[in-house]
Amino acid sequence: MTQNYRITLLPGDGIGPEIMSVAVDVLKIVGQRFDISFEFQTALIGGAAIDATGEPLPAATLYTCRNSDAVLLAAIGGYKWDSLPSHLRPEAGLLGLRAGLELFANLRPAKILPQLIDASTLKREVIEGVDIMVVRELTGGIYFGKPKGIFAAETGEKRGVNTMVYSESEIDRIGRVAFETARKRGGKLCSVDKANVLEVSQLWRKGMTKLASQYPDIELSHLYVDNAAMQLVRAPKQFDTIVTGNLFGDILSDAAAMLTGSIGMLPSASLGASVPGVFEPVHGSAPDIAGQDKANPLAQILSAAMMLRYALNQAEAADLIENGVLQVLQQGYRTGDIMSEGMNLLGCQAMGNELIQILEAK
Ligand code: NAD
Repeated sequence: MTQNYRITLLPGDGIGPEIMSVAVDVLKIVGQRFDISFEFQTALIGGAAIDATGEPLPAATLYTCRNSDAVLLAAIGGYKWDSLPSHLRPEAGLLGLRAGLELFANLRPAKILPQLIDASTLKREVIEGVDIMVVRELTGGIYFGKPKGIFAAETGEKRGVNTMVYSESEIDRIGRVAFETARKRGGKLCSVDKANVLEVSQLWRKGMTKLASQYPDIELSHLYVDNAAMQLVRAPKQFDTIVTGNLFGDILSDAAAMLTGSIGMLPSASLGASVPGVFEPVHGSAPDIAGQDKANPLAQILSAAMMLRYALNQAEAADLIENGVLQVLQQGYRTGDIMSEGMNLLGCQAMGNELIQILEAK
């Protein structure tokens, strides 16, 4: 029976429309293979929305996103809008989308592709086979806790204050996403905190440990964040899925991503409680190469694969795309950002065409 999904596309700015168009072509091919029918609806966000409507996140966009099964986003931003006040800048559209869809879980994979192993700054034997997923809490913790601000102390000196807060229910909901994610991967979950110093981390650790009894198939471990940072660069292969709070996750997900060494290859997912998830590449709108057919579309395509796996439960379709990406690299095709000697340099569209040929032949 045909499965129907309504997908909102947010191409945004810069290279966004170029990489989105390639990802949509790939989804259509995969849809035909697995009897999946996609109803695509395109909406405005970021600079493109500012130009058309005066706001970075028009109400119509949020409405369309809420009424879809998943959202595929490219990237927002560019020089043209850099001088606008912050609430009218393209980035405000992204923050508004996260808040409007209550996206509390951010999933950032860092997988070393054998074909791109030399792009990493770490030694081959350290990173070969690395396949990590960082699950970061996105709407709580020290970035949002109150009190926050810069206050005058009694001494007349100013004091800057932020507060790291997590409630049991916030810990529980991010924990569930992380255990479920580990279940779809290698079955190992490492919770990262600072429970030797912070009370909020002690509650975090208690919450994760309590949840573990409901997931007997998942092996749970705990690390302090300083040790986790060391282990990530010392022996990253020990990790499968990592779960952590907003601040620690911000830092560790970037460190994990850079193990791979190539920004044009990294997808991400942000998930909410009942609303559709948003799937997007980690990179920005790359205004320096926009409109030149030079962008690497693979992070966008891998984001579409994450959408199939995590929002639509279409693991086989996701596998097909991910294996196709490996194969296109294996055949020596590269965009400029991942180019190396002896490889075959392609533009954005041509890279998409090579991948589609591979998918059609499978
Ligand atoms: P960027 O990720 O856009 O670009 C950094 C460098 O990587 C550039 O040299 C760019 O050409 C290159 N690059 C990025 N993606 C690439 C791809 N797919 N293929 C080939 N090369 C690629 O980061 P930046 O330059 O700091 O920011 C540019 C704009 O993007 C800014 O307006 C920023 O606010 C915005 N931004 C948006 C997001 C988002 O939409 N989630 C994230 C980061 C930055």
